[in-house]
Amino acid sequence: MNEITNNLKFVLNECACGFITSFADKVVSFKTRHNEMFLLKECSKCKTVYAPFYPDEKSIELYYRENYRKIKHKDESPDVLFERQRKKSTSLRSIYTCSSRDRVIDFGGACGGVVYEFISAVESVAVYDLDKNFTSYANAKGLIAISDIEGILKFKPNIVVMSHVIEHLVRPGDTLEQFKKMGIHEIYISTTFIEDSLWINNELSFEKFIHLAHKYYFNRFTLNKLLNKHSYFARAYKKDWVHYQLKSDGENLTLPIRSIILNMISPRLILKFKFGVPNLIRKILKRYV
Ligand SMILES: [Zn+2]
Repeated sequence: MNEITNNLKFVLNECACGFITSFADKVVSFKTRHNEMFLLKECSKCKTVYAPFYPDEKSIELYYRENYRKIKHKDESPDVLFERQRKKSTSLRSIYTCSSRDRVIDFGGACGGVVYEFISAVESVAVYDLDKNFTSYANAKGLIAISDIEGILKFKPNIVVMSHVIEHLVRPGDTLEQFKKMGIHEIYISTTFIEDSLWINNELSFEKFIHLAHKYYFNRFTLNKLLNKHSYFARAYKKDWVHYQLKSDGENLTLPIRSIILNMISPRLILKFKFGVPNLIRKILKRYV
């Protein structure tokens, strides 16, 4: 099945680390889960899996408008999407400690269901998204709707929530730099990590989760690398979320290293190892006993 009804123009784009594709980059896949031709490579510099050829700005806008909602969200109505998003706020609550002074923005948050629960606990909650059909729904629910960067500057957020958004950004490093300039001190990120998806699918079927709207596929280490490059450091990992904090010049940020190292290993991978261990012991016994 081919989901694309419009001709998209693909252009050459570098990786999030700024590295331009080379023959040294390992090819990971040639197609999406919908069978479109889509080259994915592993960056030989930072090891992120990225799409060296990605729709240009006009095409990607067209794609989101004409195809993305129908395919990805199955043309969900705002209220259905809102309820589905709200379920994610429970896991965000487990990692985010609200302060009454927080100004939270859900970046690319559609209907804002992920942050809706926090309205009464913080100073202000906004949702930034290009799809006005979704943001006007968010607005009706009491969230501030923002559709351009000027609006974000005016809102003056100090906390950013990105739920399955960073993998869509063509130049996430530029966005992180913008956040830094805006004085955003904390970022909460949820994304589909490669290692988790491989485990969910229970096999090494990388192609099953490749989507044309995704520019990147991070694992816990490569996402960390990207954030660190832009002065954001992981403070905690919980369920689907990673909490990053901005390290200002000269600031001594004591990182909870032990918990981070433990949590950087995917919980699903731990399970895999757990069940894999008896096999390993059996093999060793066979060999040496
Ligand atoms: Zn890279």
